[in-house]
Parts: sequence; C-alpha cells; structure tokens
Amino acid sequence: MTFLDACRVAAEALQSFADRSRERSAPAIHQLPMAAIARQLDLQRLISEGGLDGQVFAGFLARYLELSTRLHHPGYMAHQVAVPHPLSAIASLIDGFSNNAMAIYEMGPAAATIEFAVVNWMLEKVGWRPAPFPGAGNAVGRYRRHGGGVLTHGGSLANLTALLAARARVAQGAWEEGTPGNLVIVASQGCHYSIPRAAGVLGLGERAVRYAPCDTEGRLDPDRLRDFITRLEREGSTILAVVANACSTAVGVYDLLREIAQVCRDLGVWLHVDGAHGASALLSGRRRRLLDGIELADSLVWDAHKMLRAPTVCAAVLVPDHRTLDAAFRENASYLFHDKEQPGFDFIHRTVECTKAALGLRVFFALAAEGEQGLAAYIDRQSDLALAAAELLSGEPDVEVAVVPQSNIVCFRIDGSDEVQLQVRKRLTEAGNFYISTAEFRGRRWLRLALINPRTELEDLHFMLQEVRQHRVALLPA
Ligand SMILES: *Cc1c(COP(=O)(O)O)cnc(C)c1O
Repeated sequence: MTFLDACRVAAEALQSFADRSRERSAPAIHQLPMAAIARQLDLQRLISEGGLDGQVFAGFLARYLELSTRLHHPGYMAHQVAVPHPLSAIASLIDGFSNNAMAIYEMGPAAATIEFAVVNWMLEKVGWRPAPFPGAGNAVGRYRRHGGGVLTHGGSLANLTALLAARARVAQGAWEEGTPGNLVIVASQGCHYSIPRAAGVLGLGERAVRYAPCDTEGRLDPDRLRDFITRLEREGSTILAVVANACSTAVGVYDLLREIAQVCRDLGVWLHVDGAHGASALLSGRRRRLLDGIELADSLVWDAHKMLRAPTVCAAVLVPDHRTLDAAFRENASYLFHDKEQPGFDFIHRTVECTKAALGLRVFFALAAEGEQGLAAYIDRQSDLALAAAELLSGEPDVEVAVVPQSNIVCFRIDGSDEVQLQVRKRLTEAGNFYISTAEFRGRRWLRLALINPRTELEDLHFMLQEVRQHRVALLPA
C-alpha cells in the first residue's frame, strides 16, 4: 500500500466518520470494555503477525472509528478539546509524515519559522512586543526588550514551564542547588490541577500551593490577596508566583487580571495567567475586556487545542520578556547545544521536550484558513450559545445554574443530590446521544457543558435537558 493509497482509505473513512457523527446516526459516546475492544480490533494477532495493509487496513480503520468517541457529534459537549479545523487536522498528518522535529532549527526550518510567527502573533494579541525574526538583519530590533514564547505539548506542561521561568527569577540558584523549601505558589481553589501537580514536580510539594480567598464565583479577591501575600511573606515564605485563571476550568469565569496584576506589581510578585482555555477571547472584540490587564502579567499559557480549533495537543507559553523564559532551563547537551552560526532559532532552550512536533502548523492552518475574524466569530458563537443555554436552563424550575457564563462553559444541576447528578450523567453517557461532563464547584457536583462543537445548536440543549429529566425521573424510587 503506498502512502497515497493509505491516505485515500483514511480520508474516506474519516469523512464518513464525521458525516455520520454530524447526522447523529451514531452515538457521541459508546464505551465497550477494553477487553472487548482488544478482541474486536484483533490486536493480539496483528501485533504478533502484522499484515495491516490493503483491505485489512480499511476494515481495521472502520472498526477503530466505530469504537471511537465522536467529537463531531453535536451532542459532544463534554471537554475543552476542539473539534479540529479540517486543515489543522491535516497539519498533524503533514507533521507526522515529514516528521520535522523542529526544536532545533536545522531539523525543521519551515516548522520553526511558523512556530516563531504563531508565537509572535499571540504576543501581539496580548499586547507584548513580538520577537524580531532571526536573519532579518535588524540589529536595532534585536536588542530592544521583546516578548518570547514556545509551543509545548499541552497546557499542563506549559504551566510547568512558566512556573520554572518564575522560579529562575525568585530563586536564582535553584537549577543547581535545588528548590528552596520556603517557596509557595498562590492560587485559587479553582485552579487547574496541573498547578498543584507542577508544585509536586518542582519539588515544592502540593502543600506549597496556598489557596487565596475568592468571591462566590471562585475569582481571586484582589483586596484580600494583598493581605494574604503579605502574611505569607511575614511568615517567611517566598512567593514563586500568583496564578490567576483566565478562565477557570470548572465554570469558566475570569479572574480580575488588572486588579490582581496591580497587587503583584506593588508587592514585586510574578503573575502567571493560566489562560489555557480562555485566552482565545483575546481575538473577540466583544470579549477581550474579560482579559483586561493581561499585558501586566509575567507569563501566560494559551492552549490552541481548546478554542483555536487545533487538534491535540498544542499550547503556548508566552512572556513579555524573552529572557525570563530563556532562564527557565539550563542545559548541557553538547551535541545539541553549541554555538553555531545559524540563520534561525532553536526552541529547545525553552522546552522540557527534546524532540518536539511542528505544533505551530496546527494553529497556523486554522488561522490562515479562517482568518483572525473567522476564529473570533467561532469563539463568539460558542460563548453566545453558552449564554443562551444558561438562560434556557435557569428558566426551568428544577434546574439551577452555577454562574452566568463568561466563556463557552455552562454548569447546572438538576433537582437532587450530588449523587443524582453523577447518576444522570452516567445514564446520559450510556444512552450516547449526549456526552457531557461534571465538575465540583462551591463544594457541590454540577453537570458541565463545554460548548466547543460549532455544530451544536440551542435546540440540542433543549433535547439534552429533556433527556436529563427522563433519567432523573427514572432514578426516583418507584
Ligand atoms: C485545560 C486546562 C489546562 C490543562 O491544559 P492541557 O492542555 O489539557 O494540559 C490548564 N489550565 C486550564 C485553566 C485549563 O482549562
């Protein structure tokens, strides 16, 4: 089977997978036990004997897709994972085939240039100075303070990278000597779990994440933040960073960045903004105000595989001063890191990864196909849909909505206990017409919608609610 033949088989299978999903003629979610899937896919035989080719390949792919979760289904509203733009999905294929591991320029000059351009585009959206292109001969530009960034394999890794940059500033000997025991990270209870996880990885321990006071929607309270930090410092702690959400994972609300940044500036503390999900609102004329003050941050994480329609995974770490990111890692691998005359830029100095995919291409293809305006229209559509959904739901007597949505996330509860929410979600998932998630917020369990599929309509949410009610009724004791 030539590459072209394999592509034709795969393209046809994927097109029909997407079409059938969009028509709802197959369930959004359908989970067989693993042992059954292993059997249906004939994994053991294929592993020992090989022979995945021609008709065998076509048959395998059809079965594989039948056993897959359908993000293209309008009932898919579970997670912050994009329904990829078709061209962005093709970017993954191009990257997989050409395999330009572009962390060093010579392994992928075009890929590295595109990543550089995408990072610069993001920097400009934040309000930070883009980096001059190496090789442009603009000596003046090169020495002015400018931003910097890198694309990593996901927001969790991006958060870790940003916190490493923060550590390099507050504890300058940490790379050689280890992390001082008095470093703490200040965050809200609603921060993503990758923040306490990063604290574990950094050797601080999860308990070094100190949860600052928040308002009833889970936003950091800027006034109380000042006292909170001052008290920690008085007790002998050094603040590694304050982490603000833009927006929070559970309910999608934005911290008040300008106020928080002012506190951080006054106290000389690094502000990291976790915009993994919500930074894409920077593109929207109507929603950018949610990120007011973001340019005052010291670092920002922005995922492209959530609201920029890139396939998994692709996340940006961005800083207003590129030197802070360059200080995050010290490394010594003489076969990679040596002074070399080169026309480009090595991202390897800024990453945990050594081999790295051409992630920039995934963002670039969606952006270049839709234009900034096209992506902004998509972001507005999904957020408007969330508002309409919340309005619909909060008009119902047996439904409670957590917060007025600020992004494309809606959390609600159907009349009943936490256990009822979990049981309803379980039954909904088994039926397969809708795939939703749950989240904990204010100490209670909520049903959670991430309205990320551009084909989901308000009507789908009517039907979703009907089904939720049917499952709710079925749960009542006879
Ligand atoms: C999704 C998310 C992350 C984690 O990003 P991954 O790309 O899934 O690793 C971190 N922070 C926030 C706020 C998120 O929404």
